[in-house]
Amino acid sequence: MNITVFLGAPGSGKGTQAKQLVEKFEFVHLSTGDMLRSAIKQQLPVGLKAKTYMDQGNLVPDSVMIELIEEALLSLPKSEDSNIILDGFPRTVPQAKSLDSKAKTRISKAVNFLVPESVLIPRLTGRRVCPNCGESFHLIFIPPTKKDTCNKCSSAIIQRADDVEEVVRRRLDIFKSQNQGLVDYFSEQNKLINLNADKSVSVIQDELLKVLKQ
Ligand SMILES: [Zn+2]
Repeated sequence: MNITVFLGAPGSGKGTQAKQLVEKFEFVHLSTGDMLRSAIKQQLPVGLKAKTYMDQGNLVPDSVMIELIEEALLSLPKSEDSNIILDGFPRTVPQAKSLDSKAKTRISKAVNFLVPESVLIPRLTGRRVCPNCGESFHLIFIPPTKKDTCNKCSSAIIQRADDVEEVVRRRLDIFKSQNQGLVDYFSEQNKLINLNADKSVSVIQDELLKVLKQ
């Protein structure tokens, strides 16, 4: 098993890259959200454990997340256990250490998607929604035809409270403080690859494939 961890801020494009690697090349992408949903749906013990925390609005603790990931990794069919991309996990150094403590789940590399904050902020604050019909827009990626107006029903589109700059900056700060520990951890083991991700999707993909093949 060859496990690569994707590190990067929300809006850094790592999810898009992971998706493309799966579609075009033989990569398997494990995201914590998908794994959680699937474990709950299959009523696995670890899924039910996670659900009791989520139902109470709490974060699923490290120990349960680790169990979930390990189970997902170890239960992959033989045909799919070659190139794995983990996205959104490990989120903390203890989680990374736990995966590294077993030969089968040892992390091979970590790719750090670097995008300047001046680029991330407009991406993360650009979403607009129509309060009337629910249509969504993005000022950079899917702008409405007429400024601040829904294409479908002509209502005034709005920015959700989650998307305002102050909230987005707070989310980025939390990410940065957590991520720094992982960056240091992987760097000390010479597993860290810094990737300039402020480029087009196809250019990033070429560079990514190059480093993943090394
Ligand atoms: Zn509308």
